[in-house]
Amino acid sequence: MDKNRIQELVSTFFTCDRKQLMEIFGELLSALEAEQSLPPGHLMSRNYETAQANPEIHTLPGNLKDARDAIFPFFWGTDSWQSKLHLENVKGPPNFASLVGALAALLKNPNLCVDTYCLRSNELEVKSITSLANLIFYHTQSPWGVFTIGGTISNLYGGKLGIEKVCPGAMRKGLHETKLAGIVSEAGHYSNATLAGWLGIGLQNLHAIPTDNRMSMKLDHLEKKLDELYRDKIAVAFVIATFGTTDAFGIDDIRGIREIIERKAKQYDVTAPHLHVDAAVGWVGCFLTEYDIASNPLALPKEILPLVQTMQKAAMGFSDADSVTIDFHKMGWGHYPSSAFIVNRREDLARLTRRLDDVPYFAEADFRHDPALFTLECSRPGIGPYSVMASLNGIGLNGYRLLIANAMQLALRLKEKLEALEFCKVLNFETPGPHVCWWVLPRGRNAKEIFRRFENNELTPDERQQYLKEVRRLYRKREATMDPAVDARLSFSNGIGYSPHGVTLPAWKAVFFNPQTDDAVIDRIVSSIEDVA
Ligand SMILES: *Cc1c(COP(=O)(O)O)cnc(C)c1O
Repeated sequence: MDKNRIQELVSTFFTCDRKQLMEIFGELLSALEAEQSLPPGHLMSRNYETAQANPEIHTLPGNLKDARDAIFPFFWGTDSWQSKLHLENVKGPPNFASLVGALAALLKNPNLCVDTYCLRSNELEVKSITSLANLIFYHTQSPWGVFTIGGTISNLYGGKLGIEKVCPGAMRKGLHETKLAGIVSEAGHYSNATLAGWLGIGLQNLHAIPTDNRMSMKLDHLEKKLDELYRDKIAVAFVIATFGTTDAFGIDDIRGIREIIERKAKQYDVTAPHLHVDAAVGWVGCFLTEYDIASNPLALPKEILPLVQTMQKAAMGFSDADSVTIDFHKMGWGHYPSSAFIVNRREDLARLTRRLDDVPYFAEADFRHDPALFTLECSRPGIGPYSVMASLNGIGLNGYRLLIANAMQLALRLKEKLEALEFCKVLNFETPGPHVCWWVLPRGRNAKEIFRRFENNELTPDERQQYLKEVRRLYRKREATMDPAVDARLSFSNGIGYSPHGVTLPAWKAVFFNPQTDDAVIDRIVSSIEDVA
């Protein structure tokens, strides 16, 4: 072995060269700043054609600049979501306190699987999980949880706990003949279908309960579905409620669901389903739970106080949940991956524990410090806890309150302006979050009246199809004529989760996740709609 060559590799790639690193970080930051002056979206066109055909790598060892050059076109060609014109989905810019946390995690690269691989980072995970649990559950005795790589996986943990509850020992024995089902709402996220498939329940056995016009699960339908399943001797592993649906910010009545599942379980003498809440988007509403509306110390605008109150009331329902998914990488403005799965009672997680002889190389593992004893993953990144604690303590409780109230106000402003146009109809006026879903029909049509007839099933199928076609056509027209430098990027949902008489409801959509978005952006959206209608 040529010791010199090894030494060269060590000095280039395994020794911290502050000057080189600062220079390259500086260059990356300059590119990020340069991006701010450009319209959002396509910085560079893609080249998928040769991505697979030409995956060449260097033969000779190079240096850190080769590393930079290898990724730079993709870094520059990727949108950092800093633009205030990005309103298309539940995706905002990460905040820079989170960057400080995430960079710290990357520099040390802790592995959260066991205490000995991450030294104090598991302690930070316990701390951040407990902080989040206190926000969510409000009063809780023994919360616990772990960071996962996304809301999908956090929901999967919830689903798995449900299976272990109604089919104890399934982890070891398998499901055998047990007929299982799970329940969500029609406005629930598709990750629930993912977990039903992956956990062996089967997509066909995941039942979607219709929602009301606030995109909230219809509780009488839930009750009927439970009767139906229990009469067929099917074990209902879980009900996954949603707090803040992805399209329209619908909120399920968690307390109401709890009451029904307990009552039905008693009636049929079975174990109650696990009640998991998918709050991937909506969990931030919990920052407002204890806000004193009467004295309004942050001087939040009067018009949003009723929405804050709605949010507070809904958030009290979390105390009835068994477990919750929160995506800090959505409205926590944190970095990927920062999703947390949190249980209200720590003993629930014991259902997932592996035996020490199942994890031979963690012979010393201790349930309290070594999540690898129950996590789905083995290695786990430290970004989540670092992003969460850096953000929560940088921005602070009141900082988050202001940011969330601001998003609510922007959404309300757009809702009010749209609703004032005769040819527009807002479809989620009552939901308190930062989402706006609406219809645009051609000028001259009375959108509210048409929607009323749609909801009451008074339209013929042809009429219905005609109107929905118009809503889509006008959206495409705006897309085709918009000026990307000034017109916000919106999106179109094929179904916002409310289906009057079984007909799915498509809509235009905007989500206010970027605190830089301002009134001028909203006014421009409205005038662009007036132009195309
Ligand atoms: C985004 C989202 C998910 C999935 O979360 P990922 O972090 O993208 O895996 C689940 N549920 C809801 C309601 C979501 O909005």
